[in-house]
Amino acid sequence: FLKPGEVSQCLYNQNDKQSPHPKLNKKPFQKIIPNILHAIGNTPMIRLNHIPQSFGIKCEIFAKCEFFNPGGSVKDRIAIAMIEDAESRGLLKSTSTIIEPTSGNAGIGLAVACAVKGYKCICVMPDKTSMEKENILTSLGAKVIRTPDTSVDDPDGVFHISRKLAASIPDSIILQQFKNPINPLAHYHITAMEIFDQCDGEIDMIVIGVGSGGTMTGVGRKIKELLPNCTIVGVDPVGSFIAEPPILNETTLKYTEVEGIGHDYYPKTLDKSVVDYWIKVTDKESLHMARKLHREEGILCGSSTGSLMSGALEAARNLKEGQKCVVMFPDGVGNYLTKFVSDYWMESKDFLPRPNIFKHWWWDI
Ligand code: PMP
Repeated sequence: FLKPGEVSQCLYNQNDKQSPHPKLNKKPFQKIIPNILHAIGNTPMIRLNHIPQSFGIKCEIFAKCEFFNPGGSVKDRIAIAMIEDAESRGLLKSTSTIIEPTSGNAGIGLAVACAVKGYKCICVMPDKTSMEKENILTSLGAKVIRTPDTSVDDPDGVFHISRKLAASIPDSIILQQFKNPINPLAHYHITAMEIFDQCDGEIDMIVIGVGSGGTMTGVGRKIKELLPNCTIVGVDPVGSFIAEPPILNETTLKYTEVEGIGHDYYPKTLDKSVVDYWIKVTDKESLHMARKLHREEGILCGSSTGSLMSGALEAARNLKEGQKCVVMFPDGVGNYLTKFVSDYWMESKDFLPRPNIFKHWWWDI
């Protein structure tokens, strides 16, 4: 736990006897960077000081906080990597339109890069994706097309609609995060190495969820190469069909409220062989855990983080004191302000009990 004054001692030079006021220490800030895209990556790794302990976990748990990226998620990394790869292969012109099927965050990462580089951007998103993500996208100048929450091969789904759009819009390209090898490669070369360095090469477990599978494949593969004894745990929402063995996926649910992870098919960018074992987590557990992370650790994470953290608390029971478990925190609270952050929304979905309306009425007072 933090001792009183520990943080302010880092921020201020308490030893300066000349001045009656605490002075701001000159931290080694980065010099001026050429544009927002240079702020992608190097996200903080934060020790969790309350929740693991209250669950009786002996090891240390660290959060790799990807919502510090400019677009607010882990997907900024692959967005710029895929665009720069396409540029280097001569696939993009100044008039190009980038189209992408997305659960929102990859789209936001692409739209940030398009705003800087001047490309047009169209994001095709399923209906379940939050309005917050749509508003962020339109604010970045991207166009948003909504599709029903259907399966991968549905002609009205995100993949078919993206292809139809690409066929009708001149100079358009789909970067195909679900197929593009640059997606896992960005995580293999960069995200994994950041995690490795931040933990001084000592990591016993990493907990990751699967949307496109890029984070899992890239981080999982690199960490297994560097640390073969590190356990890679996959977290999959109940209602998704990615976990193995398939018996884990048995449920009547076909829908998840948690956004960004879980599918009814295996993306090509997912290498399941890097996963040692899978844990299933319900929407209710995930959303309550995300709210707990806000309240008890002050970390304003998104809904999939709640799933990963719930999975981590189960998996980390097997670790001893002194061991280290890293959990990916893929996005932040801003994407979900009208969803799980709101008590009214939680009540409307029966994730919180509805208030007893008779309790505080005048005749009770
Ligand atoms: N969490 C959230 C909120 C996401 O948007 C995504 C990407 N869809 C993920 C987790 C999973 O990342 P990846 O695509 O690398 O599997």
